[in-house]
Amino acid sequence: MLTYLGVAGWPVGHSRSPAIHNAALAAAGLAGWRYLALPLPPERFAETVHALPAAGFRGINVTIPHKEAALALADELTPTAAAVGAANTLTFLDSGAIGADNTDVAGFLEALPGDPAGMTALVLGAGGAARAVVHALRRAGAADVMVWNRTRARAERLVADLGGRVVDAPEVAALVVNCTSVGLLETDAWFKSMPFHADTLGVGTYVADMVYKPGGTHLLAEAKQRGATVITGQEILIAQGAASFERWTGMSASRAAMRSAVDQDA
Ligand code: NAP
Repeated sequence: MLTYLGVAGWPVGHSRSPAIHNAALAAAGLAGWRYLALPLPPERFAETVHALPAAGFRGINVTIPHKEAALALADELTPTAAAVGAANTLTFLDSGAIGADNTDVAGFLEALPGDPAGMTALVLGAGGAARAVVHALRRAGAADVMVWNRTRARAERLVADLGGRVVDAPEVAALVVNCTSVGLLETDAWFKSMPFHADTLGVGTYVADMVYKPGGTHLLAEAKQRGATVITGQEILIAQGAASFERWTGMSASRAAMRSAVDQDA
């Protein structure tokens, strides 16, 4: 009998998770496991998730717009998922309980080339990804976590829950993390959408973009050109996927296999 994993989102057609997870399952020798895309409208999310264990599912990732609903239906939360207020990984436990975790936190920290302890950080955005990144940076001991968001009230809620401070205009920082969905825009639309100057990025700064876009985002291209160290959304996707894989299978995930699946897709 096959064991299933999956990713639930709405719509989910853009997700790269099946390719990277199926590559990791093959590399681990788990021939009887499959990872599927599960397009689920919000009104069907809870009832479908509760039916998945009986259909052979061991766990699922959840993505936009289900991360808060996933947390709400779980029986057991990791401290990380509870702190962030959103789950991207559900595990169907042998006891029949549903466990929730947020591996965006561990994935982001793994993908960073340096330790953020003591760094100044600027987080752009205040949605689910930003919540995971702010929690990760605070936990890792970043010295100052600034949060800028188009809608200030959302940034204020994030900071009240997770710490850091709201800024009205982006300030210079050693680490800049784009957690808005703006990176999907083409060409120089990024800098037109954001009150942010490319000239503040340069040698000695780290620039991460949560957005996964084949070929990289405009922000990262500009940052790289100015000598900054860049961290792509693909690397963060691989690291958070590997953490979820390890929760479900108890085995280490091959980052190399996952990376080559992402590269084939680019
Ligand atoms: P979300 O909860 O919908 O939040 C979207 C954020 O983008 C909000 O802060 C929103 O600001 C901002 N935004 C949207 N359009 C904007 C615009 N035109 N100008 C300025 N700000 C704008 O989404 P999310 O879950 O945080 O995800 C954000 C991105 O990260 C997505 O592209 C997602 O795919 C990616 N992501 C990647 C990974 C990974 O592993 N690489 C993991 C998680 C998420 P307002 O509050 O003002 O609307």
